[in-house]
Amino acid sequence: MKLVILDRDGVINQDSDHFIKSPDEWIPIEGSLEAIARLNRAGYSVVIATNQSGLARGLFDILALNAIHQKLHRAAQQVGADIAAIFFCPHAADDNCDCRKPKPGMLQNIARRFELSLKGVVTVGDSLRDLQAGFVVGCVPCLVLTGKGEKTRAKGGLPPGTKIFPDLFAVVDDLLRDVGPADSALDAESSARSDDHFGAPADAQPDPRTRARSNVSPHARSDTRRKLP
Ligand SMILES: [Zn+2]
Repeated sequence: MKLVILDRDGVINQDSDHFIKSPDEWIPIEGSLEAIARLNRAGYSVVIATNQSGLARGLFDILALNAIHQKLHRAAQQVGADIAAIFFCPHAADDNCDCRKPKPGMLQNIARRFELSLKGVVTVGDSLRDLQAGFVVGCVPCLVLTGKGEKTRAKGGLPPGTKIFPDLFAVVDDLLRDVGPADSALDAESSARSDDHFGAPADAQPDPRTRARSNVSPHARSDTRRKLP
């Protein structure tokens, strides 16, 4: 299977220095959900890996996070997009966990869950730590300039091979475009042809029903809602 790993805040939805604490504060970035739908149509599974230290800080609880993710899933479904799983780190920086990015624990958990290698998997983030976490496990780090992305680019020190794009939609444009082997960091397996996927209706498979989620784990878990092969 083909996989793309996305950060959440600043990549899929607008970021906030005050944290995203409720569904009302979760506002998608224009084109991001449509970009995920395009990935799905090209055969990619899309997984989110997100630091949510607001949990450890008591800014919101697990029920609020689940409600936020229900809104995310519902909004995605409305444009024919599917998020296969959301992995989150609930810890604060000084908890010294293995899952908070820039540590690669969440990505390694994703690899175990989906039984695949992370080598060459595209990871998209707006913060340096997103890119670092991907880089150390052999992913292709892609920086988007939405969210904190402009600041991240300005600070520099990006991992070698980091690709920079205006937003998630542009990442997907690049990923689904046929690229020559010479200038591509993506291996042939993960570089999908887009020919027969363009032009498909954005609302191809809407699912108006919202499935209940009850992920109450205090640790990094996903809310995977389907069995994977
Ligand atoms: Zn953690």
